[in-house]
Amino acid sequence: MSNKLNGIGASNGIAVASVYVLDEQPIVIPKKDATNLEQELELINSSIAKAKKDLESLQAIAKEKLGEEKAAIFEAHASILEDPAMAEEFTALIKEKNYNAARAIDEVSKKYIEMFGAMEDAYFKERAADVKDVTQRLIRYVLKMPVLDLASISSEVIIVAEDLTPSQTAQLNPKYVKGFACNVGGRTSHAAIMARSLEIPAVLGLRTILSTAKEGDVLAIDGSTGDVEINPSDKSVWEAKAKKFLEEKAELEQFKTKSTITKDGYDKFILEGNIGSPKDVAAVLENGGEGVGLFRSEFLYMDNDHFPTEEEQFEAYKKVVSDMNGKMTVIRTLDIGGDKKLSYFAFPEEMNPFLGYRAIRFTMDRKDIFRDQIRALLRASAFGPVGIMFPMIATIDEFVSAKKFTLECKAELEKEGVAVGKDLEIGMMVEIPAAAVNAENFAKHADFFSVGTNDLIQYSMAADRMSENVTYLYQPFNPSILRLLKLTIDGAHKHGKWAGMCGEMAGEPDAVPLLMGLGLDAYSMSATSITKARSIMSKLTLVETQELAKKALECETSSQVLDLVHKLMSDK
Ligand code: PEP
Ligand code: MG
Repeated sequence: MSNKLNGIGASNGIAVASVYVLDEQPIVIPKKDATNLEQELELINSSIAKAKKDLESLQAIAKEKLGEEKAAIFEAHASILEDPAMAEEFTALIKEKNYNAARAIDEVSKKYIEMFGAMEDAYFKERAADVKDVTQRLIRYVLKMPVLDLASISSEVIIVAEDLTPSQTAQLNPKYVKGFACNVGGRTSHAAIMARSLEIPAVLGLRTILSTAKEGDVLAIDGSTGDVEINPSDKSVWEAKAKKFLEEKAELEQFKTKSTITKDGYDKFILEGNIGSPKDVAAVLENGGEGVGLFRSEFLYMDNDHFPTEEEQFEAYKKVVSDMNGKMTVIRTLDIGGDKKLSYFAFPEEMNPFLGYRAIRFTMDRKDIFRDQIRALLRASAFGPVGIMFPMIATIDEFVSAKKFTLECKAELEKEGVAVGKDLEIGMMVEIPAAAVNAENFAKHADFFSVGTNDLIQYSMAADRMSENVTYLYQPFNPSILRLLKLTIDGAHKHGKWAGMCGEMAGEPDAVPLLMGLGLDAYSMSATSITKARSIMSKLTLVETQELAKKALECETSSQVLDLVHKLMSDK
């Protein structure tokens, strides 16, 4: 019987194959006290050695299949095993509480998993999976349980699992593993990142796939839409989907190296990548990104146990700017608070942290902390074109005083004889409706705008972006949002400034024609969306997108706007 489910499309592609249920024997932690402490400590050490050996060979396999950078995850895993603080905690529990080895590891790992898991930022949340992956392997060795070997799969399958750990993902041979479908996980999990590198279609966050699909079933998955069908009723539908996907993929490949130009020859739009850390630059360049339109600098602060020093930040920014090799890098100053917390700094308790003490409101209040970041950014600007961008600007005073502070830091550096770049631009995010409405005045002071639609939409619709109950209000195509975009873009242009967008909307295929018509200059998105946006632009004339935008601005609803876009794109 066919059965349809929908999850999160985590790695594009279509696959149809037999189900392989990855059902590891669950770990049961024995509660009994240790009788021989030395023996327990020795057991941990020998298991660590075995796990490290596994990680070494996994790293070698991954290096060959995924490249050096992706394989580095296993080095990170090995460093978790080598962490002296963790080892001390194991020893303390065994010596002081008489815990057996497995229980000690379980207890300590739970603490770290909980710590990472409690972080709201998706990237850090996923790091909990790394600790879990490593410590579960260790516990399996301690308890003398089998450790699964996925590399030995030798017929075409789709893996169905609760979750796939990074080490399991790295073992998959794309020749046989055609895809995977998991109950948990999202687009930023390691499994998803690796699946994209291996080009294996994956659907995650399915919740009930493990209890629904059985060994012997045939599974069809669409890694772009997240659609899954167990025992598909009409295989030809899936064959057609697969054919279309492969054709599109082949067509998009050429756009990695093409220039960004519309059908009628307009070549001023630029397509850029959003990054969260220096290692993300490679994907931006590989996909033909013409710059970095948003570097979320939070990672430097969140992946740390102290406010990063000027020097630590300078090294990270300099790396990105140098790697971009003359292309523009827009770095956003610390956007902390709201959902993003720091383990080493207590933000005040507030009823509505998203509307509270965060981002520019925090940094301008704590100039001691802000100074280090601004100085690091200014120093990095000596290595290539840099845009410094302030998040969550609501008033002209906020922007003007943040810019003044930046210029003071610049003067300070120059006085010290430290080089600062000549191509420095100082701009702002437009993510609060008040800023969009007043854009024309902001443009007198700011060098550029970058619209953060993720927040602009949540604040315009009064709909918390973290709440699953109000996701229907995330409406990028609502005419009210389009009108705010028009005010922002026109405001910038009136004063000869450029307007970009770095929220998710910029990379939405349906949004691109509208944004072109509204005159948006820079489009910053996840690296893998760049080729699609470039292909869309190549199929459209500027005039037809302008007509589209004009009609869209007169619409009443989101669906009317989408109908217009689909009508225009239907014969392209
Ligand atoms: C946005 O709000 O659209 C944005 C790009 O910033 P973030 O998603 O980091 O809040
Ligand atoms: Mg934002």
